[in-house]
Amino acid sequence: MKYFKLLNWSAVLLPALLVLSLLPGSASARTASRVTGIKHWSNPNYTRVVVNLDRKAVFSTHLLKKDPSINVPFRRLLIDITGARTSAGLDKSVPINDGLLKKARVGQYDKDTVRVVLDIESIEDYKVFPLSDPYRIIIDVTGTKAGNEDRPAVREPGPPENRDALPGPTLSQQLGLKVRKIVIDPGHGGKDPGAIGRGGLREKDVTLKLSKMLREKLRPDVQKIVMTRETDVFIPLEERTAIANSQDADLFVSIHINASTRKAASGVETYTLNISNDEESRRLAARENATSRRSVSDLEFILNDLIKTAKTNDSVRLASAVQERVAKNLREKFNTRSNGVKGAPFYVLVGTKMPSILVEVSYISNPQEEKLLRDDRYLDEIIEGISKGLLDYINGTGAV
Ligand SMILES: [Zn+2]
Repeated sequence: MKYFKLLNWSAVLLPALLVLSLLPGSASARTASRVTGIKHWSNPNYTRVVVNLDRKAVFSTHLLKKDPSINVPFRRLLIDITGARTSAGLDKSVPINDGLLKKARVGQYDKDTVRVVLDIESIEDYKVFPLSDPYRIIIDVTGTKAGNEDRPAVREPGPPENRDALPGPTLSQQLGLKVRKIVIDPGHGGKDPGAIGRGGLREKDVTLKLSKMLREKLRPDVQKIVMTRETDVFIPLEERTAIANSQDADLFVSIHINASTRKAASGVETYTLNISNDEESRRLAARENATSRRSVSDLEFILNDLIKTAKTNDSVRLASAVQERVAKNLREKFNTRSNGVKGAPFYVLVGTKMPSILVEVSYISNPQEEKLLRDDRYLDEIIEGISKGLLDYINGTGAV
C-alpha cells in the first residue's frame, strides 16, 4: 500500500517539477498573468486607459516628474505589473495625442515584469485601480487643456420665451433649457443577458426598451442624449463609464432590473456609488458587476479613496429625486413598493465625473413584476418618473 502511495506521488510530482524547472524566469507560464490588450477613450479633459489581463496581478504605479528639457511637471506614468507577460503584438506604441497623454505602450520590462508607459503631455490628476472578472487595470487621467476649462454642469437659462403664445413648456423643454447632455446606460446586452425572469423575460431587453423610451421622452429638447448601447450588444462596464466621461455628459443614468432568489422580493430602488450598507446590496453589486462577492469587498477597500473625488452629494440628490418620482408613480398605479436610495460599489459608476445613478426599476424575479415589465403602461410610468426626477434635480426641488 505504502509502495503504491509513493509511486503515485512521484508519478504526479516528478513530471510537474521537471516542467517547472524547464520554464525560464520566476513568472512561469502556469502562474504568469498575461496582458491581453490595452484600450483608451479620451477627450481633452479626460482619458481612460484600460489594460486587460487574463488573471489577477500585482501592480505598482510610478509618476516620473519634471522633464527639465521641455519644462513639464510630469513626464511619464508607469504601471509595473509583476509576474506578467505581454501577448504577441502588444509591444507597440499606441498614439493618444488628446492633450493629456501623448501615447501608451506596453512592454516586457524584464522577464517578470510588464511595464505600461503613458507619455504625458499635461495632466493634473490620475487614479489607477483594478476591476475583476476579467481582471483589468483602469487608469483615469484628468487635466485641463488650455481653452477647455470646466464648464458649469448646468446651463444658464436662455432668453425668456414668448410664453403667452405657448401652452407652457413640456417636461423635456424644461430639462433641455438646463441640461446639455445626458448619458443613458441600458444595463447588460449581447452575451450578458442580465437577470432572467421565470417567464423568460430578459433584463437586457427591458433595459434597452426603457432607455429608448427615455430618450424619446427627453428629446428633442435635451441637446444631446447619448446611449451607451442602442442594440443588443455587449459593452464592458468600464467602457460605459468611459463613454460618459469622454462625452463630457452632465448626468449619467444606468437602468437595470433587480433579481433575487427570494421570489417575493419586489420594488424599485435607486443606487449611487458607495460602500454597500447591507448584504442584499453587496449581493446585487456582485451580480451587476458579474463578479464574486469577494471582489465586491476588494473594490470597497479601494473605493474609500475613489469616492472622495466622486460627485457623491449630487449623485445622492439625483438618486433621491428619481427614486421619489418613480416610486410615487408605480405605487399609485401599480402598488409597487419603494425600497429607497442605497449605496453599493457598482463598477459602472466607478470614476464617473458627473452625478451618476443606477436605477433598479423592479424585480424581474418576482412573477408579478415580471408581468408588469411586459406592460408598456408600467414602463411609461417608470420613464415618466425618471424624467420628472431628473427635472426635480435640475430645479433643485428633489428630496435630499
Ligand atoms: Zn443589471
